[in-house]
Amino acid sequence: MIWLALPVAVAVALGTAFLILRVAKGWRVLRGDLRRLACGDIAIAESQPDSWPFAKTRADLLRIAGHLRQLDRQVADEGLSLRTILSSMKEGILIVNRERRITLVNDALCSQFPEIKSPLGRPVLEVFRRHELEQAASAVLDGGRIRRLEMSFPQPAPALPRQFDVHVAPLLVSPGSPAQAVLAVFQDVTEVRTLEAARREFVANVSHEFRTPLTIINGYVETLLDGTDDDPAMVGLSLQAIHRNVQRLALLIDDLLTISSFEGRARLLECRKTDLQRTFESVVENFRPDIESRSALVEVDWNPGVRHAEADQRRMEQVFSNLLENALRYVETGEPRISVQAEPDGDGLLFSISDNGPGIPYEDQAHIFERFYRVRKDRARDAGGTGLGLSIVKNIVLAHGGTVLLESTPGNGATFRIRMPIRQKTGPTGK
Ligand code: ADP
Repeated sequence: MIWLALPVAVAVALGTAFLILRVAKGWRVLRGDLRRLACGDIAIAESQPDSWPFAKTRADLLRIAGHLRQLDRQVADEGLSLRTILSSMKEGILIVNRERRITLVNDALCSQFPEIKSPLGRPVLEVFRRHELEQAASAVLDGGRIRRLEMSFPQPAPALPRQFDVHVAPLLVSPGSPAQAVLAVFQDVTEVRTLEAARREFVANVSHEFRTPLTIINGYVETLLDGTDDDPAMVGLSLQAIHRNVQRLALLIDDLLTISSFEGRARLLECRKTDLQRTFESVVENFRPDIESRSALVEVDWNPGVRHAEADQRRMEQVFSNLLENALRYVETGEPRISVQAEPDGDGLLFSISDNGPGIPYEDQAHIFERFYRVRKDRARDAGGTGLGLSIVKNIVLAHGGTVLLESTPGNGATFRIRMPIRQKTGPTGK
């Protein structure tokens, strides 16, 4: 029996050793996977050696790793979408944490505030230097509702301040939980506000311009209604005044219509080969009575090389008319001396008209082409101007692809220079 016990014992020992080795090997595989998972390595390969007797536990582990991989992909996809959304937004985005420090900015915010360098991790107050922004962030973090701010950021002259509509909202992990951070959305409304202000100013100016002649007409009509039978001279005077003011209203409406035809879709020119010199001469003829009554001298030096250009003849007539009329109108003392020149300038022509009038004060020169801008308001209005003449000139010249500028030394006359292309880019039929 003893001879049998030895081999059995050996076999049992070998079997046990084999079993221990297999269990140890399986355990090593399992422990290796667990360690990799603990270190964040979720790419556990499924083709690992056999992990018996822990095969089922390892299969569970592989399934957990699979779920984690899926979650990881989902988070990466969402992160990518979020980054894409943030970088393609035209609104600036800013996230501020509970410590009032900036944790995220998007590309739009960086271009809205190019002066701000490395804002991440810095206190919002230090970066923007605006208490109202920090206060809004604090109020929202302390459980307040969404805040809306209008913020204006001054710019170095001559740029206008930039206006922003800023919405500050809480970032909540779950509904009802305290805000972990705040999201501020910066919308640049500078252009909208500028347009709104220009529109308000335009409406106010138009109303004012209409009210003056209407008040005068009303006054004279009331006088006539009250009965002036016994004073025919008064009737005549009243009718003349009414006539003058009706003409003024008509002129104003004409100018407004011209201006509006250059805005929006109606910016049409009928460009064809035009004899600009002839056009100017016909304008001078129209003003002949005025020129003679003022004993004005109009000298024209037109280079024959730039006699013709592709232009809208009717509009150019208006340009020349407005400039000549101003030159005659604003030379207050003595005889007006007006000199006109047209000469080649590269592929265009340079037209200039100079007078010996009072010129234009330096502080007014930047505004002279604005609608309704007048240097000496009452005097200009009394002189019959609408304040729209130069704005019309500018609109017409720009529509032709040209430029207009003023040179004036106050007290020493004014020169308006127009540079026009000889050919229109879109051809002679219009643009
Ligand atoms: P208006 O119809 O009142 O003349 P404009 O737009 O043509 O309006 O001109 C704006 C203002 O510019 C005028 O009110 C006047 O004060 C000034 N101005 C225009 N042309 C001249 C000029 N040649 N000399 C002096 N001032 C001028």
